[in-house]
Parts: sequence; C-alpha cells; structure tokens
Amino acid sequence: MQVLRTQWALLPTGLAQNIEIHRVDGVITHIGPAPGPCAPGLVLPGLVNAHTHLELCGLQQPGGEGLPHWVRGLMGQRRSQSPADQAAAVAQGIASLEASGTQSVGEVTNSRSADLALAESSLSGAVYHEILGIDPEDCEEAMASVQKPAPTGFHLQAVPHAPYSCSPELLIAAISSQRGPALPTLHLDEDPAERQFLRDGSGPWADVLDFLGRNRAAFKPPGCTPVQYLERLGLLEKVALVHCTLTRGEDLDLLAERGTPVVLCPSSNLHITGMLPDVPGMVERGIPLALGTDSTASGQSLDVMGEVRILVEHFPEIPVEVWLQAATRGGGRIVGVQAELVLGATTELIRIANPAEAWASSPERNIPWSSRG
Ligand SMILES: [Zn+2]
Repeated sequence: MQVLRTQWALLPTGLAQNIEIHRVDGVITHIGPAPGPCAPGLVLPGLVNAHTHLELCGLQQPGGEGLPHWVRGLMGQRRSQSPADQAAAVAQGIASLEASGTQSVGEVTNSRSADLALAESSLSGAVYHEILGIDPEDCEEAMASVQKPAPTGFHLQAVPHAPYSCSPELLIAAISSQRGPALPTLHLDEDPAERQFLRDGSGPWADVLDFLGRNRAAFKPPGCTPVQYLERLGLLEKVALVHCTLTRGEDLDLLAERGTPVVLCPSSNLHITGMLPDVPGMVERGIPLALGTDSTASGQSLDVMGEVRILVEHFPEIPVEVWLQAATRGGGRIVGVQAELVLGATTELIRIANPAEAWASSPERNIPWSSRG
C-alpha cells in the first residue's frame, strides 16, 4: 500500500487540509484526515484540457477582427503547412501537455492527424471527430465519414462544428450519436457573426459559405439566439457547449435549467474576439464548467493553468477552487474520464507547490508516496 500525506487536497467537495490518501495497485482506497505531519503543497487530479485542436499545432493566426476573419486566415495557413512540420508541431504540443500535468484532452479534429501521436502518449480522453455541412443532403455522408477507431486510451465521438457550418439535421445526427462516455461538444455563440447568421442568414458567415461554394440557400435561419436554437432542436441536454462568449441572461438560465456544461476557452476568446463570456453569471447559476485552451493558433499555450490565470485575473471575486475543479473533474465529465480524488479512482495525481498561485507553479507528476505494508 502507498501512503501520501498532503497539506492540501482538491476533493470533489472542495479544498481540504491535512489529508491522508492510500493507494493499492494504483487504486485510491482511503481518503481521510492525516494523523501526522503533511508534505506541503496541493495534490489534485491530473489536469483535463477539455477542448483543443492539436492538429492545428504550429499555426498562429492573428486575431482581433472576429472569428470569420480568423477562420479565413487559418484555412490558408493549414494549406501551407507540410505534413512533416505538422507532425513535429503535434509532438511538441503533446510533450507540452504532458509537462504541464495534463492527463486528458478533448481533441477536436477533422483530419485525425494527431491520432498516432496521441496513441503513443500518456494522455487519455476523447477524440472528437468534427464534421461540417450546411446542406442537409450532406448529412449522411458526413456522419459516415466518422469510421476510424479512436487511438488507444481515447473515446471516439462525432461532433458537429458549429450552427453556422452545420445543418440542423447534422447537429441532431452528430449530437445524438453519443456512443461512449464522452459528451459531444459544439462551438456555440463565440462571435456576433453567428448570431447574425441565425437571425437572418446574412453576414460574414454567409460570405464564407459562398466563398467555399456551399449550398447556403438550404439553410433556413431560425431567427433566434444560438442557445434558443439548440433548445428548439432538443439538444441542450445532450451536448457540452464550447465558448458561449456572448451568452447572457435568459439563455444562461436555460443552460442552468438543462444542466448543459460549458467549456470556457478564455485565452482564445481574448485573441479572436477580444471578449470574455459572462463567467460570473455562469458560476452564480451553477452551470457545470470545464476549461479548454482551444488551439495554439488562437490560444496562448495548451496548458489549462494558463486559462486559470486569465480567469483569476479577470474575475478575482471567484475563488480559484472553482477553476481547479473545472480544470479537473469538470473536464473529466465531458471527455469521459475520471479526474477526481475519490475512493476507487485510478486518476493520476499531481502536486503543485503553491496552491494560492496554482497557475504559476509547475506541477510535479511523480509525487513521493511512502510505502506501508
Ligand atoms: Zn475550437
């Protein structure tokens, strides 16, 4: 049996002081008050980056002019990156995730080009095979393209890209296709252009669809907000929403009512749109939260502790514990892994030296457990 005594531990119920943890063959068998002296620092489950795009590693696209402009630039960049450069950048991205104490990711991918590197990594989580298609005629073919099994240690799940790039038929088919423990995700309410497109079918997204030669006429704008649209389609209880940068008021009430989780990617939001979601409104309503970095093409790094830092800086009134739960348990519930310190769990544990500035300390992965017979 292995024994660990720690000054602080992040339990599902909150931060606890002076805790003893026992582990037998990697399984947690006891969590209780420590009878003796404790090692300093905070022990918590390995981190979960619930929304990233490793396939975009090595690309950097300037932001500040909104999402449609950023996406157009990114499409050009993707075409110019060689497969060898991409593979090297993905390997570097995965190494940085491992070094930052991340145990699991939600990798959103159209190309599946990070699969091999993920299979060889220490990471687990979900491979979200992302599909697009604004014309309902393309729905069947898009769904059929999700075939290739997930890398070892990962759940495979089809996910639609966003309401401005997918027909309602495709949103329903992909989100309703949940086959394993990973909750389908959807980019939602990230930028004002999405609201305009859903309101009347016009604006920058209409221009992008025309530029790509898509059958935009097949889309009938619902004339409501993105959250109301998903409610009408009956999807809010089946999906985790990524971003929700513009979601406010009654739409947040609806998310709380339906228990819809939100994955916050604040560094990406600041880069692309210069806005942040109504984070206090989400916390007040008890909306389940997780954290993601998005890709390095829009975010600063793949380390979710960097997202914690931004949230603490912008919303100092919210206790850091909220973000530590979102960066572990909250993300685990979305990507279908256990990232909580509970009896029976085999979750990886990491330690950070200074709990008050968790985002600034480098996590230790090899915690010194003592042995007891
Ligand atoms: Zn994304």
